[in-house]
Parts: sequence; structure tokens; C-alpha cells
Amino acid sequence: MDSGGEYGTALAVAAQEAQRFLDGLPERPVHARTTRAELHEALGGALPDGPAEPDAVIGELAARADAGVVASQGPRFFGFVIGGAQPAALAADWLVSTWDQNAALYAASPAASVLERIAGDWVAELLGLGPGVSVAFVTGGQMALWTGLATARHHVLAEAGWDVERDGLAGAPPVRVVAGAQRHGTVDRALRFLGFGAAALVEVPADDQGRIRADALAGALAGGHGPAVVVAQAGNVNTGSFDPMEAIAEIAREHGAWVHVDGAFGLWARASARRAHLAAGVEHADSWSVDAHKWLNVPYDCGIALTRHPQAHRAAMGAAGAYLVHDDDVRHDQVNWTPDHSRRARGVPVWAALRTLGRAGVADLVDRLCDRATQFATALGAVPGIEVANEVVLNQVLVRFVAADADAQTRAVIGRIQADGTCWMSGTTWQGRAAMRISVSNWATTAEDVERSVEAVIRCAGLRL
Ligand SMILES: *Cc1c(COP(=O)(O)O)cnc(C)c1O
Repeated sequence: MDSGGEYGTALAVAAQEAQRFLDGLPERPVHARTTRAELHEALGGALPDGPAEPDAVIGELAARADAGVVASQGPRFFGFVIGGAQPAALAADWLVSTWDQNAALYAASPAASVLERIAGDWVAELLGLGPGVSVAFVTGGQMALWTGLATARHHVLAEAGWDVERDGLAGAPPVRVVAGAQRHGTVDRALRFLGFGAAALVEVPADDQGRIRADALAGALAGGHGPAVVVAQAGNVNTGSFDPMEAIAEIAREHGAWVHVDGAFGLWARASARRAHLAAGVEHADSWSVDAHKWLNVPYDCGIALTRHPQAHRAAMGAAGAYLVHDDDVRHDQVNWTPDHSRRARGVPVWAALRTLGRAGVADLVDRLCDRATQFATALGAVPGIEVANEVVLNQVLVRFVAADADAQTRAVIGRIQADGTCWMSGTTWQGRAAMRISVSNWATTAEDVERSVEAVIRCAGLRL
């Protein structure tokens, strides 16, 4: 046994394999290089009868899984909206696993509790949401949205004289949830999970960039009565556009509606002096959801819910149990703010990311990725046969390949790009037409990565400059 004891050799193998993976990222084909059957063959078989050495298992894991690992952590992955992991956040995540704290209660881990408390305050300050907001570190944007809407459910029903935590939704005053036609699919899913039902949703038309039309929102709210929640969006997953928040906040206030902002990636625009205007007015909202695993580039999984109503938040999420030891400052017990009981200290990598970057570093991260998106749009938009289909205001670019059958051509080119391996983009449907979506979400993407990717796109499309 070496000086690392029982853990040493397995961790040494993991560190070595991690380094090898990270070193190879810039040149690795972006797509996976294997099939489902091959992965099952390499990793499966019968449940082992007996033990194996940890270091051997880790070596085997790294070697046999490798071909099925997508280089989404690398600089030329532009599919969906997927961030990489910046160095300090990744390393902090290793420590989180190593410490193996149960970050539910201060009593179970003072360090994790205080680090998450600080990270939450830093995020609220950086996003300009004001002091005193309550913060929950959850698994992602979906659960952050759910947490915000569960808090809204408590609040609007309490105002209507209904105790939803005690009495449930049967017999409760109906709650109208108003959202734009181009909302993210996780909104509908959250409504299902919350017992509102997908049919509670009142859909408001959006404009050509996917933004809620404020006049239509006013009409929708005026057309009904009773408790209401508005779900606005900061950063549309296709176009990167922002709902008109100042107008939405004012209309919602007139109707006593709660406003939640789904800002999974777009809310980070608030950290940049050059982009903050896009999200002006989100500070008037009642709750927000934002991902750390997208634009902030911490490892999966980490989303953050914030609310301006700590009492409602605690009422919706708070945990009770005779054996739980609650800290004097309940804000230090994440069990009271998240839907989780036992939980990972997933806010610690956020602490490390913000501690490393500082305000200026986050602003630079936001600006850099927006600039790379503009670089894509400018370069591709200059190619005859390619059209950019959105106003590029953030990190999202929609591209179409012009042909007699442009939808078929666009899908075919996306397939060739994905198979080529230089870069990876996913497809989407925008306003009824096929489009290729480029999401620049990785801290490591350079101007040269964009140049190489543009060349690959042009080549795969069979076009020339
Ligand atoms: C990604 C995304 C979500 C969902 O976030 P997850 O982290 O995938 O759960 C919600 N809304 C928007 C706008 C998103 O981009």
C-alpha cells in the first residue's frame, strides 16, 4: 500500500486519467466514437461475483467508457446549452466528493453550509437581485424553476386565504400560470409536478424573437381573476432573447401576480456591463432560476433558485423532523430551502468559480462567449447559402442552409457536422422551420475554435466563402 492508503492508488489513477482526458479535449473528435451495443459489451456482462481492486476498476472505467464520452466539456461543443467545467470549479467538485459531506444541515457540515451561504449571497449580488434573497442550490434549472414556482404557489394561495401545504390543491382557488409561447419545456413539467396541471397554463403569444408580447400579457391577466403567477424568460433557448421585464413587472404588479424569471443561462448577462441592459427589470421579480452548470461553467449538476420572499420559500420547502438540528440562522440549513433532504454540497464549486473569477472574470466570461457567438454569426452570415435566422444578442445563433428544400438541407448538414467531429451543433425548430442552433457556452472556446468550426460547417454544407 502506498502512502495514500486504501484510497491512494484509485485516486492516483483517476487523477491521471482525468488529466489525460482534459489534455486530449482540444483535439478529440467531439462526437462519441462508439455504439450503444459496444458500450454494453465493454462495460456490462454479468454482475461480478466477487471483488476487484479499486485502481483496476477505475482504470477499466476510464479506458472502456472513453469512446462513449462526448467532448461537451471541450471548446467546440455547441449543442443544446451545455457548459464546460472551469478548472477551479472542477477541482472544488473533487473536494466535495472527497469530503463527502451531507450538506443538508450546518450541524452536519459547517464548512459546506457556510460556503454555500456565501456562494448564494455572491450570486445574488452579482446578478443584482438585492440583499436578503433566499437561495437554494438544486440540481439544475428544472428544479430551480420548480422551487421558485412552489414558493409562488404558497404565496399566492396564502394571500387568497388558502394553506396549500396543509390542505393541498383540491378545493383551492384556481391559480392561473401565465407564460409565453416560447417558454422552456421545463415550465410545463414544473406545473405537472406542482399539481397545477399543464392545463393551468395560460399561454401568451411571443414575437418573432420569442419574447412575450407585453400587450398580450396585460390582456391575459385582465381576462381573469384570482391568484396568478407569471413565468418570464431571460434568455430564450433558441434565440437568446429576453422578455420585456420592465413592462412585465409593471403589468404583474397591477394584477397582484407573482413573477418568476426563468434565466437558466441568460440571467448571467446581468454580470456584464455590456449585456446587463438585456435583463433590465428582472430585479423586480419575486423569484428567479438560474443554472450554474451552463454559463458559469461548474460541473454538473447545479442550478440555483432565488426568491425575494424567504418566509414563503421556507414555508414551501422547510423540513421538519425531531432529529434535525436546525441552526439559529436557518439560512444555513439548505434542507429548509431545497426539495432535497440529504444532499451534495453542490454550491461549493460555485464558491470556487466566483472566488477565482471575481466580478471582472464573470463579466469577461459573459462578454467572451457573446463575442464568439457574434463571430459565428458574422462569419456564417457572409457565406452564400447560409442565413442567420435570429437577432444575435447573446450566445445563441440560429442558422439555416438555403436550398429548394431548406428544412431537409438544414437537417442533412447538421447530421454531417455531427459526424465530422470538428464541432457539434444540434438542430431545432424555429417558427416552424428547421434550424441549426449554435450555443457558445464553454469558457474555453477561443476565436480559433470558432474559425475551425466555421470552416467545418462550410465544408459539411458543401459551400464556399
Ligand atoms: C436549460 C434550461 C432550463 C432547464 O435547466 P436544466 O439545468 O437543464 O434543468 C430551463 N430554462 C431554460 C431557458 C434553459 O435554457
